[in-house]
Amino acid sequence: MIYTRIENYLGFPSGLSGSDLSRRAISQSIRLGAEFLSPLEVVSIKLKDNYKIVTLSEGSEINALCVIIATGVDYRQLDANGIKDFTGAGVYYGAATTEAHACINKDVYIVGGGNSAGQCAMYLSKFAKSVYVLIRRDSLTSSMSHYLIEQIDKTENITVIYKTEVIEAKGDGRLDEIVIKNSETNEIKNLKTQSLFIFIGTRPFTDWIKSGIIKNEKGFIETGRDLHKYKNISQLWKVSREPYMLESSTPGIFAAGDVRAGAMNRIASAVGEGSMSIKFVHEYLSKL
Ligand SMILES: Cc1cc2nc3c(=O)[nH]c(=O)nc-3n(C[C@H](O)[C@H](O)[C@H](O)COP(=O)(O)OP(=O)(O)OC[C@H]3O[C@@H](n4cnc5c(N)ncnc54)[C@H](O)[C@@H]3O)c2cc1C
Repeated sequence: MIYTRIENYLGFPSGLSGSDLSRRAISQSIRLGAEFLSPLEVVSIKLKDNYKIVTLSEGSEINALCVIIATGVDYRQLDANGIKDFTGAGVYYGAATTEAHACINKDVYIVGGGNSAGQCAMYLSKFAKSVYVLIRRDSLTSSMSHYLIEQIDKTENITVIYKTEVIEAKGDGRLDEIVIKNSETNEIKNLKTQSLFIFIGTRPFTDWIKSGIIKNEKGFIETGRDLHKYKNISQLWKVSREPYMLESSTPGIFAAGDVRAGAMNRIASAVGEGSMSIKFVHEYLSKL
C-alpha cells in the first residue's frame, strides 16, 4: 500500500489517507448505484460499430456505448546499477507504511523532488533518525508545493541534498549501501542505508490501449481540442462535431484524471473530470 496523506482535498480539514478517501468513495458510489468489478484488470479495448468492447483479465468482455478511462499512473523506475536487484528489499517505489517501522532510528534516503517525495519525507521523519531527500535540481520550488517545502524546512531531521543522483545500490540480498554523485563537483559518496524510497515520476497505465486512441509521447491520452495537433486525427475522428473537452480520438471514449494528457494531478481535478465526463457521456448518448 502506497503511503498517501491527502491534506488539500475540499471537505476534509484535518486531511485523510488515500485509502480512507478511496473507501469512502467506493461506499458512496455503491449507494448511488455504481457496480464495482474487482479485482479485475482491463487488458484491451476495441471497437465494433458503435460499441466499445472492453476485455477483462479473466477473459470476459463488456460491450458499452461509452467508456471513461480513468486508469491513473504508475511510478517511473530509477535506472541505476543494482536498483532492480534490491527493489522490495530496501528499495521501494512509494513509501509503504509497513516499511516505516523498519526505518526507526535509521538513516533513510528518498529520491525525487515532487509532492510524493515530500510527503514521504514528512511521514518517515517521524520514524527515522535522519531523512535525506536527493534531488537533481538546485531547488525544490519548481516541483514541490510550497506548504510541503515549508514543512520540510521546519523538520530538523530532514536534509535536502541538491544536484545529486543515485548511481548504484549495493548489498548482499538486501540493500546495504547507495552510491551517490554530485552532478556539479562529480564527487562520489558511498552511504550506508537499508532504505531507499523512489519518487521520480509517473507513467500512465495506458499500455493496454493499442490503437484508435491517440496518446502523447509519454503515453497520456489526448483529448478535446488538443487532438487537432495530430495529423492522423482525421482518420480516427469520423463524426462532424468537434470532440468534447474530455473525449479521446474515438467518439464515445473519454479520459479523466491523471491518465489524461494535461491533467492537473490533483484529486479534486480527477474527481471533477470524472463528473464532467459523465455529462459528456449523456450528451454523446443523446445524439446517437
Ligand atoms: C504519494 C502521493 C500523494 C498525493 N497527494 C495528493 C494530495 O495531497 N492532494 C491531491 O489533490 N492529490 C494528491 N496526489 C495525486 C492524486 O492521488 C491523483 O491526482 C489522483 O489519485 C488521480 O486520480 P485518478 O482517478 O486519475 O487515478 P488513480 O487514483 O491513480 O486511480 C486509477 C485506478 O485505476 C486502476 N487501474 C489502472 N490500470 C487499470 C486497468 N488496466 N484495469 C483496471 N484498473 C486499472 C489503478 O489500479 C487505480 O486504482 C498524490 C499522489 C501520490 C502518488
